[in-house]
Amino acid sequence: MEKHSGVLIIGGGIIGLASAYYLAKAGLTVRLLEQDTIAAGASHGNCGLIVTSHLIPLCAPGAIRHEAQRWLQGSSPLYIELSPDKQRFLWLLKFARKCNRNHLMHAIKAREQILTHSRALYADLFHDEKLECDWAQKGVLMIFKSRSAMQTYGKTNAFLKPYGHDAVAVIGDELYQLEPALRKGMYGAWYHKTDAHLRPEKLMQAWRRVLTAQGVAVEENCRLDSLIAGEGHIQEAQTDSGSYTADTYVLATGAWTPQLTRQLKLDLPVQPGKGYSLTMTRPATCPQLPCYFHERSVVATPWENGFRLGGTMEFSGFNSDILAQRIQNLTTAAAEYLKTPLTDPAMEEWVGMRPMVYDDLPIIDRAPDHHNLVVATGHGMSGISMATSTGKLVAEMVTGRRPHIDPAAFGIQRFNS
Ligand SMILES: Cc1cc2nc3c(=O)[nH]c(=O)nc-3n(C[C@H](O)[C@H](O)[C@H](O)COP(=O)(O)OP(=O)(O)OC[C@H]3O[C@@H](n4cnc5c(N)ncnc54)[C@H](O)[C@@H]3O)c2cc1C
Repeated sequence: MEKHSGVLIIGGGIIGLASAYYLAKAGLTVRLLEQDTIAAGASHGNCGLIVTSHLIPLCAPGAIRHEAQRWLQGSSPLYIELSPDKQRFLWLLKFARKCNRNHLMHAIKAREQILTHSRALYADLFHDEKLECDWAQKGVLMIFKSRSAMQTYGKTNAFLKPYGHDAVAVIGDELYQLEPALRKGMYGAWYHKTDAHLRPEKLMQAWRRVLTAQGVAVEENCRLDSLIAGEGHIQEAQTDSGSYTADTYVLATGAWTPQLTRQLKLDLPVQPGKGYSLTMTRPATCPQLPCYFHERSVVATPWENGFRLGGTMEFSGFNSDILAQRIQNLTTAAAEYLKTPLTDPAMEEWVGMRPMVYDDLPIIDRAPDHHNLVVATGHGMSGISMATSTGKLVAEMVTGRRPHIDPAAFGIQRFNS
């Protein structure tokens, strides 16, 4: 078997597949390695929202106070395991420091670029390839039980408006006409009309088939153990199935990335942010639109043949334990907002590790000390939404073409300042 390729991508999540697509389109020979099976990480059971309007980073001014209040009320989706983990502690500290207006304005600009371009590239992708994944451009409803919470959230509109992503207020009867699956007692919703949704596991499998047909070599159950460095470059990738060489290496290993770059003395601030989902067939009264239950931070995504509840953010390192309590939190939240929150029995209980960076911006850059290594990770809660522009940017970095977006905000250098 030929073990050399133009580009060797490590990681079979959405970022790995998107990078493979644009690299193959640019005419390069591409091989992709995945330690498990395609979409074994965060890219399978997530909520599938394409949140083009999600410009505000998690580390917004007031975010910590807001979360602390919700914690006291018992409605926070956030869990932080108390353990003497220095990396996690530093990450949280840096997150707190980024909760300021300067960073807010910087992050909005950077997120807008990558989200808007990704959305347009998804349209091109679905036009050019046969990818059946329940793609729907209907928007997302951000639903509020409380009037004051809805009014507070409304302030974010001022930031979204200049980019054409401001939401429309839907109140009272109008809300029930738009979304009859809601229980009585909701105050209203902000309707983010520019958002879309798809079924991520279907996208992943369909995209994999397209890539294989286009000549990308996909190898599953092949774990990268280490990248062997020569003078200023990567020489070889050692895996549990032998070694591979390439002209360029792309690390698209999601939350696992720091474990691999640490060997190269490249410290990347990516923490696993564990989330849960519960997938079932469509309930008798199924929402027409994806709904975000704001007071509970739980998402409900309806598809043609399915329905998913997803949420929670747990900082507890790497563990794939499925805690019954967290699953119950999803169903309890859904029961507060929906007439029929569940279909019993559920088809799948799932956990995934979001690759979280404290400034809520992805990392898409060449490694500073290894010119033929590109890193693409850290997409946090928006990796599905940002995937296509990320893949295209990775291909542009590898081929030396002019980038379609300004990559400065996604650079590794930012962690040194
Ligand atoms: C509950 C939940 C809901 C979400 N909802 C949304 C949403 O609605 N919209 C949205 O945009 N985003 C959403 N996200 C976020 C999104 O899922 C992630 O940002 C995205 O999937 C990250 O993709 P990735 O390719 O970087 O990582 P992953 O999908 O985790 O892929 C990384 C891959 O690398 C592999 N790997 C790791 N180490 C090695 C190694 N040594 N050798 C070989 N392979 C390796 C892993 O097995 C994995 O398959 C959600 C996440 C969660 C958890």
